[in-house]
Amino acid sequence: MNELADLYQEVILDHNRKPRNFKKLPAATHEANGHNPLCGDRITVALDIQDGVIADIGFQGAGCAISTASASLMTEALKGRRVADALSLFAGFRELVTGGVTDQELGKLEVFSGVSEYPARVKCATLCWHTVASALGEHGQDVVTTE
Ligand code: ZN
Repeated sequence: MNELADLYQEVILDHNRKPRNFKKLPAATHEANGHNPLCGDRITVALDIQDGVIADIGFQGAGCAISTASASLMTEALKGRRVADALSLFAGFRELVTGGVTDQELGKLEVFSGVSEYPARVKCATLCWHTVASALGEHGQDVVTTE
């Protein structure tokens, strides 16, 4: 394993041990639940949207290290971002973890690039994003990842 891969691993482990924005959001304007039956990951994501901007975001739930770290890093990436930009970021992230190409600036989210080598893990990494998309688009419809 090369140095970069070790570094990425370190970030994922850190966010799994100490998830950021792991909290309830009493003032949430949007919320949805997500479930990845293949792995057993469950997540609730809540957002407080003000004037088209994600003013605050929090998640709760239980899942594997990848799903927890992905949700943690996602909340950091999305806080303060416009809703439209959040959805473009999701599109870019999906490309990253499925081995595609994107012109999105993914920043820290690039730690998940290695996931593309493990197709079964893609759903773990994208569950939180699908849940956010659902919360934003369909006002709280639950998400179950499917093939
Ligand atoms: Zn998982």
